[in-house]
Amino acid sequence: MTAVETHRANLEARLAALGIEVARLEAESSQPLEADWEEQANQIEDMEASQGLEAVRVQEANQIRAALRRMDQGTYGTCANCGADISPARLAAMPTATECINCAP
Ligand SMILES: [Zn+2]
Repeated sequence: MTAVETHRANLEARLAALGIEVARLEAESSQPLEADWEEQANQIEDMEASQGLEAVRVQEANQIRAALRRMDQGTYGTCANCGADISPARLAAMPTATECINCAP
């Protein structure tokens, strides 16, 4: 397995796990409200937390999909800004990186 193939396998597994988690969070954040208003306050707080987490997970899933697309296009591991190779250590730490260490914000 090449390094890119390893990253692809890891990212695909992560993407599948994210899909399950996002579906769960979505179910949690769209439950009918309890009758008791104090319960409702807690429930709304939980739903907001679920929605916040869901947004973070959706963003991660989008980054993974973009990385998989770059693998298909053969541009994976190339800096989107300067065109240099992104170091293998950086890709190992952050497989969805789009920029080399010099260009990263
Ligand atoms: Zn760069």
